[in-house]
Amino acid sequence: VPGPPEVNDLARRQIRALVERALRDAGVLGVIPTPVDAVTRRAGILEVLDAEDLPASVAAQKPSALGRVLGAVLFRERLVFVDRNQAEPRARFTEAHEVIHQIVPWHEAAFRLDDHRRLYGPTREVLEAEANLGAAQILFQDQVFMGRALDYRVTIASPMALSDEFNASRHAAIRFYVEHHPDPVALIVAGRYQDASGRVPIWARCESPSFRQRYGRVADALRITKLPTQPSTALGEVIAEALTSSEISRRDVVLLDLAGERTGFAAEAFYNQYCVFVMVAERAATRFGRRVTVRAG
Ligand SMILES: [Zn+2]
Repeated sequence: VPGPPEVNDLARRQIRALVERALRDAGVLGVIPTPVDAVTRRAGILEVLDAEDLPASVAAQKPSALGRVLGAVLFRERLVFVDRNQAEPRARFTEAHEVIHQIVPWHEAAFRLDDHRRLYGPTREVLEAEANLGAAQILFQDQVFMGRALDYRVTIASPMALSDEFNASRHAAIRFYVEHHPDPVALIVAGRYQDASGRVPIWARCESPSFRQRYGRVADALRITKLPTQPSTALGEVIAEALTSSEISRRDVVLLDLAGERTGFAAEAFYNQYCVFVMVAERAATRFGRRVTVRAG
């Protein structure tokens, strides 16, 4: 099973620095929710147009494998296109993603077209993963979001509860939370269509730096290549329950670290009618902080 692309540490650091400079130059560092349009203007984009207005000459070059265009950037023309039929948090994410293509020097091409898969789904393209990383940096401004999130318990409910305040999707907030968490935390995002053995495909995964260091990749630590949805194991149980509920489900699971040692984790699952999110957090890390209550539905 090919994994999602990894953004290397150097690119990660460079993108982070580019975003911080863009936020500062636009005068919106620390302003929440981030006024994305200010960053867009500051990045030299002349106009943000609806995706329907994509020039026919560019639309004609859309690869047939690409779905409906939700976002695009024309580099020389300095134009960004966003599908305004998306919910506002997603439209903001899309605009931020296109702005990242514009400001990251090695992304430059004649144009880029982005569909659902490239923006939110199981992309296999490193440049798209980089643009998504940068887009999340624009929306969450890491110290601001994580500073807020770490007041609360280590639970998937914390980023979900904060997503509205940042005018971001829950999906993007959960991902950002996991990638920047100081404790061993990891996330799997899976599709909803089950194979013959009742398992669903893993679309994306990410781990916090401390998780990665001690446990490696989350699917390996759980000893899975797809997510089980049958309640014959604790992991299968937490997912089976999430699939039929609008609540966050929770079970204790055991993970193996890289030395083969067993450690207790809390697994939480949540289903947004499109994909399944499973977050695991070392149980020792989940006991402190304020509680938040979130309904998934
Ligand atoms: Zn893109």
